[in-house]
Amino acid sequence: MNILVLNCGSSSLKYQLINMEDESVLAKGSVQRIGIMGSELNHKPMGKEVYNVKTPIKTHGVAVRLVLEALFDEEHGVIKDEKDIAAIGHRVLHGGTKYRSAAFVNDDVKDIIKSHIELGPLHNPANLTGINACETNMPSIPNVAVFDTGYGTTMEPKAYLYAIPREYYDKYHVRRFGFHGTSHSYVSRRTMELVGLDRDNSKIIVCHLGNGSSISATQDGNCVDTSMGLTPLEGLPMGTRSGDLDPAILELICRREKKSIQDMLYILNNKSGMFGLSNGLSSDFRDLKAAQERGDRVAAETLDVFVYRVVKYIGAYTAAMNGVDAITFTGGIGENATWLRPMVCEHFRYLGLKLDKEKSEEAVGKEMIISAPDSKVTVSVIPTNEELAIAREAKRLLDESNI
Ligand code: ADP
Repeated sequence: MNILVLNCGSSSLKYQLINMEDESVLAKGSVQRIGIMGSELNHKPMGKEVYNVKTPIKTHGVAVRLVLEALFDEEHGVIKDEKDIAAIGHRVLHGGTKYRSAAFVNDDVKDIIKSHIELGPLHNPANLTGINACETNMPSIPNVAVFDTGYGTTMEPKAYLYAIPREYYDKYHVRRFGFHGTSHSYVSRRTMELVGLDRDNSKIIVCHLGNGSSISATQDGNCVDTSMGLTPLEGLPMGTRSGDLDPAILELICRREKKSIQDMLYILNNKSGMFGLSNGLSSDFRDLKAAQERGDRVAAETLDVFVYRVVKYIGAYTAAMNGVDAITFTGGIGENATWLRPMVCEHFRYLGLKLDKEKSEEAVGKEMIISAPDSKVTVSVIPTNEELAIAREAKRLLDESNI
């Protein structure tokens, strides 16, 4: 059984075709610059040459057709036709709280995606367009939606309510939703397997540190807290997002710089975080680390702010769960930045955490336990695999429904 996984952004589409017998990737690729000059398909069939097509790609519908043509192509393809695709799994950013896990796409699912466009203005419309394009091009293949907000639906009111007048929760559902749910779900489950924890007696903190970063606390298999909020802007500072800040800052800057709230939100999402704090040096941790090593004080302070906030969230979630069994690093930074892990972990010596620095150096982009055998908290690196997690969810639904 093969599952096609689609992740549609506002002007891009990423895909993987996964053989669920052995969970191997048959082909993967992306379509970039949809609706913009210079659009192209980049298709990587396993065991064959990379195949690039540069052509005007006006809509996501055209992009989906191009992906299918590449998958079915005699020379560059990996399957014969659409009968070789059992289902299509779609990553959907914002689904509110209705769907905890994956769901077959129907009118209700589409309505939920539409009704959350206000909270996911860049992603939700693209996710819906991707689903519609698949329905048009492959009407007989079931579509499955996997929501990034699904994992956070198990949080209790004490974790998801903001201390503002309750009418805003009642009227507009202003609450913490959390994002990166597919990643936190996959990595926390994988942590249990790797570390050998009993699901019903486990306390796990997952640090998903990438261009977008978030931390989650999972107790007895359920998410109890997570750092992103109503939107992905809350929590850790990120590549270009500010993360947590005093809301009074908005009023002060708007007044002094004669900016609107919309201007400010653009700045907080796109010009802040590592990029803003480093005076525009870079949002990429590799550049910041290189600058810090050259003696750049601003770069050093920027990295310190990030590490300090990661430490504070881990500390807060340890207290929230009254302990922690395992801490796992994932995401582009978590999986690759070996210098960061000792800086974070040294703050948890008081918990009896002992990092094995040699193992941590060795764990680059691969799954490994990196704490010492006698550490009271097990620290791991687990590369996230959101595509596989989505494909597994789609397969589970198919198996349960006997389609
Ligand atoms: P996204 O949130 O877009 O999925 P990723 O999880 O792929 O992002 O993470 C991308 C980020 O990972 C880059 O911006 C870069 O800062 C960081 N990164 C990648 N490789 C390294 C590395 N070797 N050392 C430090 N940071 C790295």
